[in-house]
Amino acid sequence: MTEPVAAEVGRDFIRDIIQADLDQGKYREIVTRFPPEPNGYLHIGHAKSIALNFGIAQEFPGRCHLRFDDTNPVKEEQEYIDSIQADVRWLGFDWGKNLFFASDYFDRLYEWAEKLIGDGLAYVDDQTQEEIRLSRGTLTEPGKNSPFRDRSVAENLDLFRRMKAGEFPNGARVLRAKIDMAAGNINLRDPVLYRILHAHHPRTGTKWHIYPSYDYAHGQSDAIEGITHSICTLEFEDHRPLYDWFIEKLPVPSQPHQYEFARLNLTYTLLSKRVLTQLVRDGHVAGWDDPRMPTMAGMRRRGVPPAALREFVKRIGVAKANSVVDVGMLEFCIREELNRTAQRRMAVLKPLKVVIENYPEGQTEELEAINHPDDPGAGTRKITFGRELYIEQDDFMENPPKKFFRLSPGNEVRLRYAYFVKCTGVIKNDKGEVVELRCTYDPATKGGNAPDGRKVKATMHWLPAATSVPAEVRIYNQLFSNPSPDASNFAADLNPNSLEILSDARIEASVAESNATEPMQFERQGYFVRDKDSTPGKPVFSRTIGLRDTFAKEVAKG
Ligand code: ATP
Ligand code: MG
Repeated sequence: MTEPVAAEVGRDFIRDIIQADLDQGKYREIVTRFPPEPNGYLHIGHAKSIALNFGIAQEFPGRCHLRFDDTNPVKEEQEYIDSIQADVRWLGFDWGKNLFFASDYFDRLYEWAEKLIGDGLAYVDDQTQEEIRLSRGTLTEPGKNSPFRDRSVAENLDLFRRMKAGEFPNGARVLRAKIDMAAGNINLRDPVLYRILHAHHPRTGTKWHIYPSYDYAHGQSDAIEGITHSICTLEFEDHRPLYDWFIEKLPVPSQPHQYEFARLNLTYTLLSKRVLTQLVRDGHVAGWDDPRMPTMAGMRRRGVPPAALREFVKRIGVAKANSVVDVGMLEFCIREELNRTAQRRMAVLKPLKVVIENYPEGQTEELEAINHPDDPGAGTRKITFGRELYIEQDDFMENPPKKFFRLSPGNEVRLRYAYFVKCTGVIKNDKGEVVELRCTYDPATKGGNAPDGRKVKATMHWLPAATSVPAEVRIYNQLFSNPSPDASNFAADLNPNSLEILSDARIEASVAESNATEPMQFERQGYFVRDKDSTPGKPVFSRTIGLRDTFAKEVAKG
């Protein structure tokens, strides 16, 4: 298990920069933004960015915008716009009135593109996408000028307006910035500003036949909104000179500054929207909110408390160098939070019937069980004890090895909140499998302690046969069995045992009756949450997380 590193919580190089800017009186208010592209659901990497941007707006005088970078209508959908808003709120952040869309700025971006053309800083290129790619050069070789680079302003304007009017088919022409095909930074080699796309946009409908590139739209959107600190991940570091070029050439209302931080990577996890989309589309998972997905929707469904995610991103901190965080750290934060907040209940995942032979037939009694060991305020509940019970199959062994202290013939154990019991007989089916146990109980040990002071080495959970309720329990494991799954061939690294369904489980009646959406601890098993697949006849519970980290060990053993 990873010992969580005590990061210097709440302090990082970005916050230091902001503090220094405020100290120097550069800004009265700090304005940040979280700028998702609505082409998929948010994942835990986005949680890091959300907590950083919205966190800064809470800690310093300022605000944080939620801006959808909706410049590519082919991949973007309203479903994603809705899910992203739900996820940001769930994580505990609020943009207030500051909800924006890059598409709100399409008119202004278009005017500015005409201005660049007028200033001789942009041109319409008739080359194909392939030709443009081939003439871009490499890291060691300069690119080649397009044969269309020296078109007159008048011809460029005419062509660009006709692109806008929808006169040309997809891909026929693009608008490019006229910067420098020999620039060391490839992003400055006449990047594409607009492409022709006859596509329906979720917000602007069929108004546009050309769409701005992300690189052209992003910085100007920041400038329009008065973003002071435009925080993004490291892969955009090389784009910064381009963004600064636009800001310098255009009459923008403000000058945002971009700062880059390392994106979150997690072991056993792929955080790429391309891969996550593929997992959903190819049916490797049951949807974006499949509890095995690293999406916020998946984690919410799985019962991960948002506070655990906030704590996790706080602990990992914000750095400038890329690294991979052990998923054990995330699991540690989930366990910590649930251990504090989750009520305790009992469930038997793989039931084995037990008959207490010396308990009177037809008799039952109510025993008291505590709801949280560290929180007396959480109160108690009643559990019915009777002659027929269920225990966990794994808690019994007919021929136990030396260190097995749970139930075995002749051995005495404690049933939690109830009595000491001793196994007196084993009933098997035709196949020789144990199907029922015969036990006796000691009536003097009510509550779980013997007046003569004798001890037992194991305390086991159990449920009454009559009043416990059948349930399906889903046990989730890592989606990938490789600690660093290969994004280009991820299907090969999928864990074939990432979902185990236990369809004969039993749960306490109180659990079945409650519609609580909060996870509970099933004693000795882990934390579980009611799933939306539950039906009135059969509740379904998903394991949020086990009590201990066993996966890494199992994988190591092979
Ligand atoms: P992907 O690369 O998976 O498609 P993306 O970066 O393109 O993700 P966006 O919707 O553009 O997804 O991301 C919105 C914001 O979240 C961006 O500012 C981006 O830098 C940030 N972000 C995305 N992935 C991570 C990550 N793994 N860790 C931290 N921040 C991230
Ligand atoms: Mg992106």
